[in-house]
This record gives sequence, structure tokens and C-alpha cells, in this order.
Amino acid sequence: MPKMKMIIDCDTGIDDALAISYILANPDIEFLGVSTTFGNIAVDQSVKNSLLILENFGRSDVKVYRGADHGWTKPVYERSPSLDAVHGHNGIGDVDLGEPKGKAQEQSAVDFIIESARKYGKDLHLVFVGPLANFANCIKKDEEAMRQVGNITIMGGALTVQGNRNIYAEANIADDPVAAKYVFGSGVHFNIIPLDATLRTLFKVSDIEDWQTINQAGKKIYDIARFYYIGEYQNEDIGGAMHDPLAAFASYDPSIITNWYECNLTVEENGRMIGAFEELNLPEKRHKVALDVDAKRFTETYIEMLKKMIENCL
Ligand code: CA
Repeated sequence: MPKMKMIIDCDTGIDDALAISYILANPDIEFLGVSTTFGNIAVDQSVKNSLLILENFGRSDVKVYRGADHGWTKPVYERSPSLDAVHGHNGIGDVDLGEPKGKAQEQSAVDFIIESARKYGKDLHLVFVGPLANFANCIKKDEEAMRQVGNITIMGGALTVQGNRNIYAEANIADDPVAAKYVFGSGVHFNIIPLDATLRTLFKVSDIEDWQTINQAGKKIYDIARFYYIGEYQNEDIGGAMHDPLAAFASYDPSIITNWYECNLTVEENGRMIGAFEELNLPEKRHKVALDVDAKRFTETYIEMLKKMIENCL
């Protein structure tokens, strides 16, 4: 069996780093590259964090591409101070991984994604786990190429639960609702992993504690993950939601989602993802939304896979 080809588009904070780690750890995925955007952190820091995570696992062969430095909604990126508590000042839990040895490729994230879409078509899996400016820019530049992609999965939105930016909006969508609305209204079909599913995937610190004893690579990723659990959830025993890792996992194995809801959605100016009223009775459904997940299998598989990769690091 040929390996599955995958690209992930990140605003590289902690759960993005854990999603990158998953793609590295899955032996059946060919990791084509990381494209980057603003969101949890400014895009240049997102590039840096992505390079550092790849290098932490000895995988500088995976290339990093610089994408949008701001969205369609606001002319400049402004980082919310509240993100320091969740992702740390540097986006990766204030863990010092030094300076990356590599740098971003010359080609832009959008051109890299479109070129890959043209080249691999239905064999390509694209995962977007930040605000949707890069996705929107790809569609604007070459919608035809994006329609040919075999699987596109985004992490974002909240349909049957409350949001995490405010009561009705999730952060990735709320960070750039104008771009998100354009993406949702386009002819491109995609899967959506919203908070409805990700909030059911809670990892406790005790679940990953043994990573830190294996080697330096394990210690670093453990330290990064631990910051997030404590910062976001204030309690190590409750655990942290694996938003972005679940999106990458579900792109590889959609059967991890136990309830897919097919519909046509839109995004309001205030960042709320909601059913497109005028499209309710259209026979064609462009969006598949994950409403529930086999959290036990996801957690066990993810943790085991990462442990195996860490053990294989020098
Ligand atoms: Ca993210």
C-alpha cells in the first residue's frame, strides 16, 4: 500500500505541535510539508515552532512553508494576551527549543498547497488547523485544483456545544470569519472537526508522563504538552482537548468519528458557524461535521504511536 500523502496547515501552538507530531509518528503517512499561518501566534513564530518540532524528532526533511500573516477580516494580526496562558509567549508552552537550523521554503504556502493539489489530486489529504486564510487564498487562486483534493479536513467551529472564543464561536473560525465564510460558501467539499468532537478527547498529564523519561525529544514534547493542559484547563486530572491532533487523525482514519452529520454550513460575521438556511434543502451537502468520536481508541492509538516514535529518536 502506498503511504497517504498529507499536508497540515498550522498556526503552530501546542495542539498544532501535537498534530504535527502525530503525522510524523504515523508510519503510513507521507508527510509532504507544513504550511503556516497566524492565529495562536504570529506567522513567523508559527514557522519557527513548526521547524523546531520537526527538528526535535530529527525530521528536518519535512519542509515548512510561510503563509498568511493576517486574515481577510482584519488588516493586521493582533495576538490576544489571553493566548499566553494557553500556549505560552512563544506558542509552545515557553519551552526553549533553541533556534531552528532550517528555514521556511521560498515557495509560499498557498502555491505549495495548490501545486500539491494539482500534482496528487484525490491522493492528497489536506488538514487545516488554524484560521482559514490560507485555505481561502487557495480557493480564490485555484478553486478547481482545491476541488480535486481527495480529503480536506478542518478543525473549527462549534455546532451543538458552546464556543471557546465566546459562547457561540470557536477560535479558528472567529479569528477570520470573512475568510471562513468564503471557504464554507465555495464549491469545495470538506470535513469539519468542531469542538463537539474535540472536547471529548481529553488527555491527562498522567497519560503521557512516561514520554519525559525516554529521552530529550520525549522530555521536550512532554513539557510542551503539559503547559497546555495546565494553562488551558487548570487541572491536570481533567486533561486537555486534542483539537488539532484529532483533525489530523480523522483525516487519516475518518472511522474514528462515530457520528458524521452531512449539511451545508455558513459563517456569520460574529464567528458563529451555523447551517446555511437557504441551502437546507439542497440535495448536495458540502460539509461533513464530526459530532462524536471514539475517544478511547483515539487516545490509546495516539499515545502509543507517539511513544514509539520518541523511542526511535536518538
Ligand atoms: Ca491550531
